[in-house]
Amino acid sequence: MNGQLADSQNGADSRHDVAVIGGGPAGLSGALVLGRARRSVLVVDDGQPRNAPAEGVHGYLGHEGTPPAELLATGRAEAGRYGARFRTGTVTDAVREDPHGFRLTLADGGTVRARRLLVTSGLTDELPDVPGLAGLWGRDVLHCPYCHGWEVRGQPIGILGTGPLAVHQALMWRQWSERVTLFLHTGPEPDDEQGEQLAARGITVAAGEVTGVDTDGDGRLSGVRLASPAPDGSGGRQETAVLPCRALAVATGLTARAGFLASLGLVPQPQEVNGTVIGSRIPADATGLTEVPGVWAAGNAAQVTEQVIGAAAAGVRAAAAINADLTAEETRLAVAEWRAGRRATGLTEVPGVWAAGNAAQVTEQVIGAAAAGVRAAAAINADLTAEETRLAVAEWRAGRRLPVP
Ligand SMILES: Cc1cc2nc3c(=O)[nH]c(=O)nc-3n(C[C@H](O)[C@H](O)[C@H](O)COP(=O)(O)OP(=O)(O)OC[C@H]3O[C@@H](n4cnc5c(N)ncnc54)[C@H](O)[C@@H]3O)c2cc1C
Repeated sequence: MNGQLADSQNGADSRHDVAVIGGGPAGLSGALVLGRARRSVLVVDDGQPRNAPAEGVHGYLGHEGTPPAELLATGRAEAGRYGARFRTGTVTDAVREDPHGFRLTLADGGTVRARRLLVTSGLTDELPDVPGLAGLWGRDVLHCPYCHGWEVRGQPIGILGTGPLAVHQALMWRQWSERVTLFLHTGPEPDDEQGEQLAARGITVAAGEVTGVDTDGDGRLSGVRLASPAPDGSGGRQETAVLPCRALAVATGLTARAGFLASLGLVPQPQEVNGTVIGSRIPADATGLTEVPGVWAAGNAAQVTEQVIGAAAAGVRAAAAINADLTAEETRLAVAEWRAGRRATGLTEVPGVWAAGNAAQVTEQVIGAAAAGVRAAAAINADLTAEETRLAVAEWRAGRRLPVP
């Protein structure tokens, strides 16, 4: 990582056009586009990208297999080249400071001010409560066949049932291996139709609770431990089997990292698939605009199913929308200023005609009317002078062009 870009804290407290909260693929793509649009951008990031445990990023055209940290370092360097700045820290609060901007508070006590916010803080994956899963997360304990399926193709793959989508997950993973076992664990029993589908696809269904996982000498997943209620009626459990397993697919709880938006009234909402809640997201429209004017969200924070390339694309879309919004605001302000400037001298809409005193302003008193007359006279004199200068220059140039007799 470029040392200069790693943490350019200078100016963190001045007001930026945009503060990007989260420097993953969504945030860095947004920062790149905003930097290229000549916007001042500060990316605040606490360095916990979701896919950090994975060996490589898959399915991102042009970057296939790139280690996640390498992709982010490249992204930082690219955005930094266009002026984006970076600040290490965790945003803990966000408030609207005035009609035109926001103030962020960081865990270290620092503050950041910005006219617009791009929230790209991702989500946290909560693993099912089975001992041993955390140590294998992202390597042999997996959530997504598109991210990891190819790497474990043809291997014995288990699906840890924790909810109604487990059957769907098992049928999906079957594309990557002929040896798939659905561990019912705490999930529901498949209904008749699902049972038929699983049987037709040759997927084994294992009843009982998963109590742990085994690893081999290299620390890789080798088996899944199953237990059933003890037959003595004591309420205890007895281990019934250890089934070979090279990869275990799980459904993690997907929670948007958005607690810092509460002061703005932005609260994550449940995200469902086929009527089952799979996580939470910050509601946003197709450009990423949230319910709070001036705040955009992109990537996994706004859409839990987004992969890296989708998160990056969402960051690009949001950045373009933010730039358009800032441009609209700046144009409004410029027009107001321009009109005020014209009005101050008494210039009417007709070039060459000024108005002053009660003719232009009914509330003007004698001294105000007199002052307006003076302002208008000075403006008229300046206008005449400008015109005469233009004409003199034109005449002088024409004179220079005359042939010498
Ligand atoms: C194990 C695993 C493997 C994966 N493999 C692939 C794959 O191969 N291909 C693929 O396309 N997708 C893959 N994904 C999905 C991928 O991780 C996401 O699509 C991607 O990370 C979403 O990008 P993002 O920018 O929205 O969020 P993230 O990449 O998670 O980035 C969010 C950033 O915001 C920061 N942040 C959060 N809150 C705050 C705060 N309050 N203040 C400051 N900073 C904050 C975090 O530290 C983090 O750096 C994988 C996911 C996992 C879990």
